[in-house]
Amino acid sequence: MSCDGSTPRRLDAIGQASSIAVNNHVYEMKAAGHDVITLSLGEAFFDLPSLAHPLSDGADLHHYTHSRGVPLLREKLAAYYREQCRVPVDPEREIIVTAGSKAAIFMALFAVVEPGDEVLVLEPLWVSYPDQIRLAGGTPVAVPYDVPVDGLEDYVTARTRAIVVNNPQNPSGRLMDMDEMRELHRLAETYGLTLIADEAYNEFVPLDHEFRSLGALDPEKKHTIVCNSMSKNYGISGWRVGYLIARPALTDQILKLQQHVITCAPSVLCHFLAENFETLLAVTRPQILEAVSLRNRMRKTLSAAGVETLPGNSTFYLFAQVGDGYRSGEEFARDLLRQHSVSVVPGVGYGSSCADFIRISVGTEPEARVVEGIDRIIAVATHGEKGFGSSICSEQ
Ligand code: PMP
Repeated sequence: MSCDGSTPRRLDAIGQASSIAVNNHVYEMKAAGHDVITLSLGEAFFDLPSLAHPLSDGADLHHYTHSRGVPLLREKLAAYYREQCRVPVDPEREIIVTAGSKAAIFMALFAVVEPGDEVLVLEPLWVSYPDQIRLAGGTPVAVPYDVPVDGLEDYVTARTRAIVVNNPQNPSGRLMDMDEMRELHRLAETYGLTLIADEAYNEFVPLDHEFRSLGALDPEKKHTIVCNSMSKNYGISGWRVGYLIARPALTDQILKLQQHVITCAPSVLCHFLAENFETLLAVTRPQILEAVSLRNRMRKTLSAAGVETLPGNSTFYLFAQVGDGYRSGEEFARDLLRQHSVSVVPGVGYGSSCADFIRISVGTEPEARVVEGIDRIIAVATHGEKGFGSSICSEQ
């Protein structure tokens, strides 16, 4: 901050992460004693084994690690991507463990975007992509949610440098198919673009569906950077552990950013994760399937009541169209929280084509409270049609 109190202009263009801002408000309401049915948090809660880690054994646990990440954790993550996602990964040179995948995505963008470059992001987009692109000096180009992947080429210009793809997608829960992935790689090859694949929810797919990594179609990683996270699949968002996979020359560049900004991911947690990698996943996988199943049952409930959601069968999110031309998703979310004590995230944070939507997460409340929350959403969305918004507002 300068002596007149102003901040640099590049920060004026940046907003708060809308989902996090909503959840800060919910944390404060709960701390003040309000009972809020929380359908706004971007994670799923699991029963996890207690941390029986010998924290006092081995001084290494308490200190910096190799800035690429604890070697055993890199090996485990490389094996995971090789076996589960068909992406060959050299744990020595092609992976960096970071402080959450948010840092991984930002560093990936910072490493590929030149000032003035355009980066395509597909709506509904994850709330941090546009501002991370701006912070990296680029210009986000948002593609409206009703444009299919084979319409993306119309958005490519001479300045386009990268496409960010979230698969499965927060907030719609959509899983990409192989044709869409092939088209993305065709665009990358034709126009010299980098694909930044955010695969943070890759375990959250129904049993009869298979997750395919975008990285599997580019095994040499000529134009693909894969980012992933322990936050969602392992249910440990607060640990702040994520990772990225890229070709060696690119990880060498990104490593410089990591060394100057983060040094390394939290050591003690990474050691614990490396030791318990398979055990933890064995514990979370059945619970992940339950979360996905609950999501899909709630989708049917909403649909039967006339509240439509964007197509998708994965993750624990639903992106529901509630705006009626009279009340926006933002107003709907505000009324829902104030009048009915249910928190959701307004859709506008996921792109300007999404202003009529709200994001619902079924990941953190017990099923009975999720059902109650969905019932209240349906009541607000369907009660009284036009004019209900004004009666809600006049109650205040
Ligand atoms: N990508 C997506 C699509 C997300 O939803 C999130 C968190 N909500 C992240 C990345 C970042 O997760 P983390 O930093 O906890 O790994």
